[in-house]
Amino acid sequence: MKNCTVVGINWGDEGKGRMVDLLAEQYDIVIRFQGGGNAGHTVVNEKGAFALHLLPSGIFREGVVNILGNGVALDPENLWTEITELRQKGVSVTPENLKISERASLLMPWHRELDALEEQRLADKKYGSTKQGIAPFYSDKYQKKTVLAGELFYPARMKSHLADLLEWKNLLLTGMYEAKPYTQADLDAWLGACERIKPYLCDTTQYLADAQAAGKRILFEAQLGSLRDLDYGIYPYTTSSNTIAAYAPIGAGAPFLKTEEVIGVVKAYSTCVGEGPFVGEFFGEEAQKLREAGKEYGAKTGRPRRVGPLDLVATSYGVAVQGATAIALTKLDVLSYMDRIPVCTKYRIRGEETDRFPFPAALDEAEAVIEFVPGWQTDISGVRSWDDLPKAARDYVLLIEDRIRCPIRYISVGPERGSLIVR
Ligand code: GDP
Repeated sequence: MKNCTVVGINWGDEGKGRMVDLLAEQYDIVIRFQGGGNAGHTVVNEKGAFALHLLPSGIFREGVVNILGNGVALDPENLWTEITELRQKGVSVTPENLKISERASLLMPWHRELDALEEQRLADKKYGSTKQGIAPFYSDKYQKKTVLAGELFYPARMKSHLADLLEWKNLLLTGMYEAKPYTQADLDAWLGACERIKPYLCDTTQYLADAQAAGKRILFEAQLGSLRDLDYGIYPYTTSSNTIAAYAPIGAGAPFLKTEEVIGVVKAYSTCVGEGPFVGEFFGEEAQKLREAGKEYGAKTGRPRRVGPLDLVATSYGVAVQGATAIALTKLDVLSYMDRIPVCTKYRIRGEETDRFPFPAALDEAEAVIEFVPGWQTDISGVRSWDDLPKAARDYVLLIEDRIRCPIRYISVGPERGSLIVR
């Protein structure tokens, strides 16, 4: 069986968590390879309803080993909170089923604070931060100003490394933001929290090399979507890491692995959390109806999501940059209330129509060209086979498939594990 990567094709929140939870049954290992606790992967299964932030969505499957790769923003305090919450709901999280790369950089308390300080000082310039310290964390990582989790096993080295970082970071905090400096005592308290994740740390690169040799089946789980990728997204309204499948083996800690299958998750309509261009956005009553129907409120922040029609221009671009080999189309059931379904098929930019996703700066001038297709206006949440879907729903799926040029293999009609049609 081929290794597989599950990615978001659009702005995130497409339903990757539910797809990974489902597909994990067929895999031995599930790896989160980028991003941090700013994710909100919602999983509904027999154990309950969960919003996973950093933990891989394979955590509910017995026998599946979950890995946090070196590419993630490892926030030891929030990770521990997440582990504790899962345990309280009866989910087992142990060093047997959760392994954390010793090469993952640690997110420090000052990363979260810097997010908040920047937003306070530049209140009118928002980039949609979830204030989890993700951007300051990745900036520091690329400046080589973070500590690696594995340094916890080298206390003397950790101490001197942290002392250097403390001096450097306090210059910024006090000099630029006039904020309170961090003290050694603050760091000692933080190190206490780090101790709890120590049993989970290991050389995941070696672990994955051995797993590959043993023929284990590996699933990579992305956070967010193509349009939030640092290099290929709607910069600067992106996240600070790479959300695309090509990055998966690198961020996972297994650059030698190939990911032959890429399942792109696409929602049957569009949503976008936070700031940035969002062509075709609905407003007013139209937006509120769709938001309510799809329960489109952030899993991490509770923020109402911006909503709009399915955007075939952005989706085709997402499919291309992800190199998607198959699509999982989610939340088709949500559109059941519409008598006709709007679809953005092209953008109009300075009077010219195009189906190519433009350079980010051109998005400000892009208008959506909307086509309408007939709705089905009947509850489809109980449908489990392609043939049983109303013709209008099948036509909608076929239209998408035709325009994005990628087979739609899964159609999800509800949040539960079983609410799925496999074609
Ligand atoms: P992720 O971050 O990509 O995992 O997506 P989110 O968890 O943020 O958002 C997906 C939301 O839609 C979650 O609340 C899911 O439980 C829910 N969901 C997923 N698939 C379906 C579906 O087919 N129908 C409905 N009604 N809800 C779904």
